[in-house]
Amino acid sequence: MSQTTPDLLVIGGGTGGVAAALAALRLGRRVIMTEETDWLGGQLTSQAVPPDENAWMEGPQTSPSYADFRRRVRDYYRRNYPLTTSAASDPALNPGLGVVSRLCHEPRVAVAVIDEMLAPWRASGHLEVLLQHRPVHVEIAGDLVRSVTVRDINGVERTLAAPIIVDATELGDLLELGHIEHVIGAEGRDDTGELHAPEVANPLDQQAVSWCFALEYRSGEDHVGDKPKRYDHWRTHVDPFWPGPQLSWTDVEPIGLAVRTRPIFQSRPTPHASFDLWRFRRILAAENFRNGTIDSDVSLVNWPQIDYWEAPLLGVDEVSAQRALHASRELSASFLYWMQTEAPREDGGHGYRGLRLRGDITGTDDGYAKAVYVRESRRALTEFRVVEQHVGVEARGAGAGSEVFDDSVGLGHYRIDLHPSTAGRTYVDIESYPFQIPLGALLPVRVDNLLPAAKNIGSTHITNGCYRLHPVEWSIGEAVGALAAFALERGCPPRAVRADRRLLLDYQHVLTARLGITLQWPEVVRTHHYVPQDAQESKDSVSVG
Ligand SMILES: Cc1cc2nc3c(=O)[nH]c(=O)nc-3n(C[C@H](O)[C@H](O)[C@H](O)COP(=O)(O)OP(=O)(O)OC[C@H]3O[C@@H](n4cnc5c(N)ncnc54)[C@H](O)[C@@H]3O)c2cc1C
Repeated sequence: MSQTTPDLLVIGGGTGGVAAALAALRLGRRVIMTEETDWLGGQLTSQAVPPDENAWMEGPQTSPSYADFRRRVRDYYRRNYPLTTSAASDPALNPGLGVVSRLCHEPRVAVAVIDEMLAPWRASGHLEVLLQHRPVHVEIAGDLVRSVTVRDINGVERTLAAPIIVDATELGDLLELGHIEHVIGAEGRDDTGELHAPEVANPLDQQAVSWCFALEYRSGEDHVGDKPKRYDHWRTHVDPFWPGPQLSWTDVEPIGLAVRTRPIFQSRPTPHASFDLWRFRRILAAENFRNGTIDSDVSLVNWPQIDYWEAPLLGVDEVSAQRALHASRELSASFLYWMQTEAPREDGGHGYRGLRLRGDITGTDDGYAKAVYVRESRRALTEFRVVEQHVGVEARGAGAGSEVFDDSVGLGHYRIDLHPSTAGRTYVDIESYPFQIPLGALLPVRVDNLLPAAKNIGSTHITNGCYRLHPVEWSIGEAVGALAAFALERGCPPRAVRADRRLLLDYQHVLTARLGITLQWPEVVRTHHYVPQDAQESKDSVSVG
């Protein structure tokens, strides 16, 4: 069957893009999805970040398709890996026993699972996936996107058209290419009224990016490579808001901003930290596997030491953006070199020379993730904008719960977790209530047939801090895929669905009845306000994403 004019064109095969495609396919639509790297999954895979999830993730409010993804990850390990008997029989199997989520697993397994979830749709011809294609041109006529031209790694271009187009790129590329109204960086308090916004807007105030990598530790071996060119810079440079050079075990506790020391390996809890960095995002725990099989843990490095905040990716020319990406990789390489050669060890020595890059796990020859981990994208100007006053505990007051949205299309929760930024701002890590995703934040103010479906929705610099995490991005994508299918079915533009109460209820019925999505938190969850039990819990707070 020809796929030249699908119902839906999804540009960007990350977490939101995959979920958008799946939802549209399940509602009977034909989809073309493009992806810049050779792995679908975005932050779950090519950016190599194990999922950052909320406390209710294993409960009934989780979107069934995301729960299916999680179930399949566990099954993948059960089917293919030499798990111990107890790990295999554990319904809550956490392959890496990492602290950051209950499902710390390898990026490559997430790729396999996503491919498996999409396989029948590809076989039937309902879905065509174009890997290693990036958008280079958007053709607009009035308020409609006519086509998107994508270019593959050989420079071959292909122009794709569809009645509805989804921007699920990591940085909101179509917004810029199509001159679609959007914002970058930080909005000002004069505009949003947000407690934690800077006084005035600063488009170049963007959260740090991180170039992640996977490591194992082989005691007695030597895996030290060449010294990175800018190593001495990173080893000595101190930013005013940081307690010392980034190449150090000493960093800043994200919530209270106290200086703390947390090393890679620590045999016993300390007053500073009850767990070490190694266990933070560990994605394979040797103890889960039978003796003599997987004999070394693998941990994913996405720690404060590799947060790159020197220069922004957005609002600068291509050469500057590429320079920033290169520098981000240099910082990651420098941190590895420092850990191997100079880092203080618990036994009084220096450097863990046996730390070894596991590029096979991130799918690369050089050992680093395929793509940089992006926390903040261009954001579409939309009919409705989620601001701190809708979700923030301090902004709303104790017990108030999150704003209730009549046009809810899904659920999410995470702390508002802003990493240090390119404007020299330190962490903003504040509590939020479990929240809803409002349809209005998915509808651009002008363009009728383009829908944002990743971190590029109508949030702000502040609220992006809680809407950017894996399961929230998944739910955003899923709602967008279903919206596209529904609008096509009814022959109306997506924005009509919000404008007409009858249509809105019908669409929400598709979400709940056909896709099983829960649109409201129980009251006890919506108003949940987490109070750390003791000082240790507070100190252990980790800016995880
Ligand atoms: C290759 C393949 C793989 C599949 N894998 C899965 C899977 O993993 N999970 C799963 O749940 N299902 C899966 N299905 C089943 C598929 O989702 C259903 O066949 C499809 O949703 C049609 O549902 P139905 O048979 O109930 O028909 P109906 O509900 O009668 O729908 C028929 C058509 O009407 C349209 N439609 C009806 N109402 C709406 C609405 N409100 N909004 C938008 N469109 C609407 C759809 O386009 C649909 O094609 C798969 C099907 C195929 C062909």
